[in-house]
Amino acid sequence: MLLTITTTHSPATDLGYLLYKHPQKLQSVDLAVGKAHIFYPEATEERCTVALLLDIDPIELIRGKANDSFALSHYVNDRPYVASSFMSVALATGFSTAMNGTCRDKPELVDVKFPLEVTLAVASVRGGETLIRRLFEPLGYTLELENYLLDATVPEWGDSKYFLLKLQHTLRLKDLLSHLYVLMPVLDNDKHYFVNKQEIEKLMDKGKDWLSAHPEKELITKRYLKNIHHLTRQAFEVLMREELPDEEEEMEEENEVVKVVKQKRVSLHYQRLQTVFEKLVASNSKRVLDLGCGEGKLLQLLLRENQFEEILGMDVSHRSLEIAAERLRFDRLPAHVRQRISLIQGSLTYKDKRLQGFDAAALVEVIEHLDLNRLQALEQSVFGFARPKLVLLTTPNAEYNQKYETLIEGKFRHEDHRFEWTRTEFETWTQHITDVFGYEAELFTVGEVDEQVGASSQGVVFKRKV
Ligand code: SAH
Repeated sequence: MLLTITTTHSPATDLGYLLYKHPQKLQSVDLAVGKAHIFYPEATEERCTVALLLDIDPIELIRGKANDSFALSHYVNDRPYVASSFMSVALATGFSTAMNGTCRDKPELVDVKFPLEVTLAVASVRGGETLIRRLFEPLGYTLELENYLLDATVPEWGDSKYFLLKLQHTLRLKDLLSHLYVLMPVLDNDKHYFVNKQEIEKLMDKGKDWLSAHPEKELITKRYLKNIHHLTRQAFEVLMREELPDEEEEMEEENEVVKVVKQKRVSLHYQRLQTVFEKLVASNSKRVLDLGCGEGKLLQLLLRENQFEEILGMDVSHRSLEIAAERLRFDRLPAHVRQRISLIQGSLTYKDKRLQGFDAAALVEVIEHLDLNRLQALEQSVFGFARPKLVLLTTPNAEYNQKYETLIEGKFRHEDHRFEWTRTEFETWTQHITDVFGYEAELFTVGEVDEQVGASSQGVVFKRKV
């Protein structure tokens, strides 16, 4: 299998400095199961291509495998011929200096964005063209794909899972290498080496600049860690702390200073979830509702705490529930955990018997997704009909929006928001709930409090009086 990287940067031969490999020489690197050869098919000032040819020894591959019985699949398989985790290892071994962002002779090149073109022959892809696009396009690549027939002499058998991939992008070489390192085994969805805890570290290291903002980060993490549940979960936890999931983070994206600060602190959304979670724990509630549970982030926290004997997540969006079920690995939970949680589809604007009899309900960043004229229906259904002893609710503080430089005045933080309230508007509404439904209200904030405009998120704990 062959990987080539071409640049038309001027002078193109700078590629040799960055890779720490001389264009005039053929170099070979020993790998556990074969060799990687690195050479330059072309190296001019205008255009320079480096090739990494992987030569896997099929016999080495099966050596050491516990194979007391003869398994044909040990001998007849595609492993020696497709780009997979072997290619990642070869990449990390052959180009380790470049991947770590070091360049001894011309250190200034490390941060230069080069026009780069990659050819990968052949990639084995579980998930077809759609998957390839989902993985690479969010990172800014332009793709050209060629799908091979299963058997060229029998076209009616259709396409195989083998692709010739061409990727184009202008970016730093070390970023390109880290993308390839992580995504090649993800395409393939297999790994040749034992996946252990170190793999999480590798993933976090190679993905540190881009993975938490990638829309397919869960899929990538899962496949990279080969669906090993406990490893994936640990990785998710790290990502969840780092991720920039909410409106604030998106808007601040271009601000480098903020970015650095942000890496050091916990994302606002995580803070919100954590605050609500802690309040639920402190309340000694046992049976809890997560209303408008979305993709199940709060549910994930709740499930880990045995205090919560019955957890019910509800959302109007079927798709969100699917994602939540996946996040929680619903179908693989041990029976005693599984029986503590249910997900249901429903709308908060209709009275629903399934929501009655609970100790507490959380509505984290939900009400602002409803048209104001439907809010009354939600009030009736939650405070009038379901009537949990405790309701915890958060919503954006509109006054804080002026602190988001990239947010146009008068616009909401998220395109699906129907309203955002000032602190006074929120307080007035909480007052209305206490008056009409017999609850007491205690306000709280999430995030740093600005003297003038308050905190980014505002919340309330409603306690039922009787
Ligand atoms: N609470 C989650 C999700 C917040 S996004 C979290 O904090 O991560 C708002 C969620 O409210 C979305 O998942 C949306 O589908 C849901 N939602 C909007 N209107 C709803 C309604 N009428 N009934 C139930 N859920 C609703």
